[in-house]
Amino acid sequence: MNLQLLLKRLPSVEKVLTDTRLSVLITPSSRKGITRLVRETIDEYRCALLEGDKTVLGKEGDIASAIVMDVAGKVKKFTGSVSRKVINATGVILYTNLGRAVLGKQVQAEIAKAASGYIDLEIDLETGQRIKREGRAARLLSLLTGAQDAHIVNNNAAAVFLAVNTLAASGAVAVSRGELVEIGGSFRLPDILSKSARRVIEVGTTNRTHIRDYQEAVTDGADLLLKVHKSNYNITGYTNEVPLRELVELGKKNGIPVMYDQGGGLLFSLGKDAISGEESIAEIIGSGVDLVCFSADKMLGAPQGGIILGSSDLIERMRNNHLSRALRIDKLTLAGLEKVLFHYWAGEMESIPVLEMVAAKTDKIKKRAGNFSKLLKEKFDGKATINTINGESSVGGGTFPNNSLRSELVKITLTEGEPERFSNMLRNQDPAVLVRVKGDSVFIDLRTVSDDEEKLLQEAIVKGLGNIAKRE
Ligand SMILES: *Cc1c(COP(=O)(O)O)cnc(C)c1O
Repeated sequence: MNLQLLLKRLPSVEKVLTDTRLSVLITPSSRKGITRLVRETIDEYRCALLEGDKTVLGKEGDIASAIVMDVAGKVKKFTGSVSRKVINATGVILYTNLGRAVLGKQVQAEIAKAASGYIDLEIDLETGQRIKREGRAARLLSLLTGAQDAHIVNNNAAAVFLAVNTLAASGAVAVSRGELVEIGGSFRLPDILSKSARRVIEVGTTNRTHIRDYQEAVTDGADLLLKVHKSNYNITGYTNEVPLRELVELGKKNGIPVMYDQGGGLLFSLGKDAISGEESIAEIIGSGVDLVCFSADKMLGAPQGGIILGSSDLIERMRNNHLSRALRIDKLTLAGLEKVLFHYWAGEMESIPVLEMVAAKTDKIKKRAGNFSKLLKEKFDGKATINTINGESSVGGGTFPNNSLRSELVKITLTEGEPERFSNMLRNQDPAVLVRVKGDSVFIDLRTVSDDEEKLLQEAIVKGLGNIAKRE
């Protein structure tokens, strides 16, 4: 059939809208939106035809019907989905694409309380006076870490931006070439610095930076010396990095503030074998650094936020920067953050899921994995080989590249069928399940699965395995 005739078979917008398969989905408030979707979809089909793509004609060659079904599918996808629950069986604790830190029950309740009505966000109820929204959290952070003061913004990228902008908007910030990192694709330090400071002085080389390099930057007019946690990579071999304390000394000698973008936000040392070799925020404050910043939703275990700790005068300058208004955190986040900080204050670490996941004993995970695999085995003998093996979980979130945590994984090897297909199937369920795939097997790490979720995970896997078995 020639192109002109094919194009003539494209239906009118009205015809698509009145088809009962679509019209039942239309409400008064969605009519305009669905009409837009219909127009967009007809245009897509027209373009496809013009490009010679005949597959859009649908199986029966009924293009109108294909368009109706396509739009109906899109509408159902909207209505069926705000965000979907995901069971994270990957063992990556701070999985950025899954929303990083999981919050504990009491923190959830505090956020719900703030959401359900009015709260004393910026008012002192005793005096009726207006107060800073972050006052309570800042006070707790100071008392917990020994910092003079704290400022809170909506993520750590904003914290870096605000701090550098406040101290070097018309001056220069010095940073080592070995620390010009990119984290998760959307945080590129060089880009943030070039937008927040008038001038960026790159110091040293990729693998080696010495104190004399920073000294040169000082001579060159640096207004701020910035050190950045390398977070998600290591430089090994012929390397040199200037320790924070030496940098602090240089800063003090020259009257230039030193800031450390620590990123991960481990408030106190966890001791033991977890997160070895990582300095805590409290220890970093003890080094005399002028400012340190980190994410609230990484190791701290709170909702998304960025926290800057440091000397009162510098923090006050940041509060007075007009950008602070654009970067301020909302009441829900603040309510959650305050509760997390109270958990630290009260020593209730078991109420902070991120810390619980990091600290979970391998023996306990081993036991859970054993029970889990036994249960699956009983159901799927013959269709899959299921056992447990040694493996590793990771902290993730672009934090602490040197640290992996020993774990015990449930390994599922299908007798027939590809692990990728099994993993796709699990991901497309509700709740969605994310697993690791390696070689011919699928791996489940229960470290990041709560006790409450374990039953759901089991059901999802049983369902997935059943479906695979049917299809093969
Ligand atoms: C994670 C991280 C950031 C970005 O923080 P967000 O809260 O994701 O904006 C910046 N710097 C370092 C060192 C980090 O680890």
